[in-house]
Amino acid sequence: MSIKVNKINILGESSLSKPVKDVLRSLGIETVNNGAEADLDGLEIFSELIGKKKVITRLKVVLEGNEYFFRNSSFVRLDERLGSEVNRLVKRNLYCLLVDNLELECVPYGILHGVRPTKIIQRWLKEGFGITSQGVIDRDRISRRIVSDFLTDRDKAELLMEVALRQLPIINSKKISVYVGIPFCKTRCLYCSFPSNVLPAEEIIAEFMTALARDIESAANSIKRHGFEVQTIYVGGGTPSALPDNFFAEMLELVHKNFYSEGVEEFTVECGRPDTITAQKIDTMKQFNVTRVSVNPQTMHQETLDLIGRKHTVEDVTRAFNDLRAAGDWLINMDLIIGLPGERLGDFKETLEKILELKPDDVTIHSLAIKRGSKLQTRLADELNSLEDFDLPSDAEVRSMAEHANKVLRGEKFVPYYLYRQAYMSGQIENVGWCRRGAEGIYNIQIMSERQIILGVGAAASTKIPEPAAKRIWSVFNAKDLNTYLRDLERYIARREKLLKTICPPVVKLEKNSTTAKEGD
Ligand code: SF4
Repeated sequence: MSIKVNKINILGESSLSKPVKDVLRSLGIETVNNGAEADLDGLEIFSELIGKKKVITRLKVVLEGNEYFFRNSSFVRLDERLGSEVNRLVKRNLYCLLVDNLELECVPYGILHGVRPTKIIQRWLKEGFGITSQGVIDRDRISRRIVSDFLTDRDKAELLMEVALRQLPIINSKKISVYVGIPFCKTRCLYCSFPSNVLPAEEIIAEFMTALARDIESAANSIKRHGFEVQTIYVGGGTPSALPDNFFAEMLELVHKNFYSEGVEEFTVECGRPDTITAQKIDTMKQFNVTRVSVNPQTMHQETLDLIGRKHTVEDVTRAFNDLRAAGDWLINMDLIIGLPGERLGDFKETLEKILELKPDDVTIHSLAIKRGSKLQTRLADELNSLEDFDLPSDAEVRSMAEHANKVLRGEKFVPYYLYRQAYMSGQIENVGWCRRGAEGIYNIQIMSERQIILGVGAAASTKIPEPAAKRIWSVFNAKDLNTYLRDLERYIARREKLLKTICPPVVKLEKNSTTAKEGD
C-alpha cells in the first residue's frame, strides 16, 4: 500500500529531516503537488528532544477538512551517541505512528535504512554488547536488540547477525585493498545508474589507459611510501572485460606489475557481461594470477535480457562459465537480480536452478533498485509510463523470490557472507552475497566492514581511509564520468596523497627518481 499526501510539513530541527524522509520513503508515502489528488490533505511532523533523555514525536494528519493528532515518545539509549540516538528515535516514533494510525504495512527492515547494517552489530560486539561474562556471543540478545531498536522482522535480524559474525574473522584492518575502476560497458542496462560509457573509439580508450597508468603508478608509490601490504585487488566497473583484448591485457599487466605480490590473497576481475569473455582474456587472467572472476547473468530468461538491454544470450552465460571453469581453478561468482520487469517467482526459480547447475562458488542476489539516473527511473518519472508498463513484480513477490533463494541456496550448502542495502530497492529487502564455505569474496567483506584502507584508482573508484581514533572514514571519489576523470586526474591523486599523509604516517622514503616523489605531492 502507498499513500499520496498533498503537503508535508516537517517541523523541529532541520537536521532531523533526512531520517523523516527515509521513513516516509520506506513506507511508500509520496508528496504530490499542492492541490493534486491525494489520500491525505496534509501531514505535519514535529519532534523534540527532552533533557537529552527522551524524544517526542507529534503527528498531525489533515483529511477531508478534519485534523487528527497523534503522539509517541521513546527513551535515549545511554550506550549510543546522542546524535544518532535522536535520529533513530525520531524514525522509530514516526514509523510507529504511521504504521499504527495510517494502516501502512510494516517493512522488513523497519527503520534500518543504512547501506551496511551489519556494521552496527560488529560495533556492538567491539564495544562489548552481546558478549556474556564467559566471553560467549549472546546471539539472542543481539537479535532482540535489532528488532526492538530498528523494528526489523526477526528473520532479518537473524540474517544480519549471521552475516556480521561470519565476517568477523575475515575483517582485516592491517592490510589494504586496491580497487581499479574501468568505466566501460558494451551497452547500458535499463536499471543502471552508473554513467557507464559505452565502449568508445580506440583513441579514447588509449587516453584512458594513459591516465589509468598514471593513477596506478601514483597509488603504487603510496603503497611503498606507507609500507602497506595489499591483501586484495578488485578490478570492477563498468565491465572491465568490455575492453578489447589488447587493452584488457595491458590493463591487467599494469595492475599486476604495480599491486600484485605473493601476499595478495585475492585478485578479482569482473567480467559481468558473458559475451565479453574471450579465450584471450581468460589466458590473460591466468597469466596475471587472477583468483576470482565474476560472470553476471542477472537472469536466465532471454526475453528479460533483451528487455533490460544486456544484449547477450543465455547461451553466452553458459559458454563463458564453462570456458572459465575449464581454464582455471579460480572462484567464479554470478550475480542475479530479483524484481526484474516481467519476472515472477516461477521465472526466478528457473533462473536459480539453471545457475546452480553450473556450480558457481558464489552467487549474489540483488534486489532491483530503481535508481536515480537510470533509464528505468527516467521512464517511470515520465507521466506516460507507470510501474504497470514495466510489469514490475510487487514487493510481496520480490520478497518471495528472496525467500526462495534463501531456502534453495542454504539447501545447496551456500552461506550468506555479505549484505548491503540501497534506497528504492524492490521489496524493501537487501542484496546478499552467498558462497560455498571458504569461498567468501574477501574484498566484498572488507569494503562492507569499512575497517580496511581501500585505494581506488580509475574512473568511479573511491578511496576509503578509516581513522578509527576519530571514528571517521575519509573518502576521495574519482569522477564517474570519463571526461571529468581524464580532466581532473591530478586533483584526485593529490587529494588521495594528502589524505594518506594526514591519516597514515609514511614509513618509507621513495627514491628521488620516483615520479610521485619528483612532483612533491
Ligand atoms: S553492466 Fe553494470 S555498469 Fe554496465 S550498464 Fe549494466 S548495470 Fe551498468
